[in-house]
Amino acid sequence: MIERTPGPLVLLIEDEPQIRRFLRASLPTHGYRLVEAESGQEGLSAAAVERPDLVLLDLGLPDTEGLEVIRKLREWTHVPILVLTARGQERDKIAVLDAGADDYLTKPFGVGELMARMRVALRRTSRSDGARPTVTAGPVTVDLAAHRVWLDGKEIKLSVLEFKLLAELARHAGKVLTHGHLLMAVWGPDYLDQTHYLRVYMGHLRHKLEAEPAQPRFLLTEPGVGYRLECGD
Ligand code: CA
Repeated sequence: MIERTPGPLVLLIEDEPQIRRFLRASLPTHGYRLVEAESGQEGLSAAAVERPDLVLLDLGLPDTEGLEVIRKLREWTHVPILVLTARGQERDKIAVLDAGADDYLTKPFGVGELMARMRVALRRTSRSDGARPTVTAGPVTVDLAAHRVWLDGKEIKLSVLEFKLLAELARHAGKVLTHGHLLMAVWGPDYLDQTHYLRVYMGHLRHKLEAEPAQPRFLLTEPGVGYRLECGD
């Protein structure tokens, strides 16, 4: 089952033959090795045995809820989990991110988009958490330790809440953070319904940091789900 090419090992947990065929053809040519599992149970065993560098997980599996697979994996591993979803499952997206998945892709997806998301997910785990005091996203540099922000080398003044929001996004740069995650991290548990706070403060950040706040390049909205700080590729 394992392709004899070097590179990171990807575990694909997916029951749809077309998707498996597509990835079997495309991943090895991009330098990845591939292990396949057709069900949640098989996937969980393969994760334990093969110790993949990344997991691609279909949400609609024949035997197990994809969400349950994420929870079981997160009991023992920080392996990046990229979820494959059908269009329009925003609720599922929020649930899988909150359960510990790193990112999701909506089917049908192109190989370019998949490769970009995989690179981001793998890069995130290759650096140890908390060991990066500064995060750079395009022209924006965030110093998490000193609580300072620069745009094109010029320091930008942010309010305490603006900085907390930006810092949370920067700590998870490249990853979608759900509304619930951000509200919890910045405002606390009593504010989980106050999604409009996020809209307002994301607006502040975009006005201070984006060249065109209405067409943000780094402080991105994931419709119905949350926000992402795009760190470029
Ligand atoms: Ca499926």
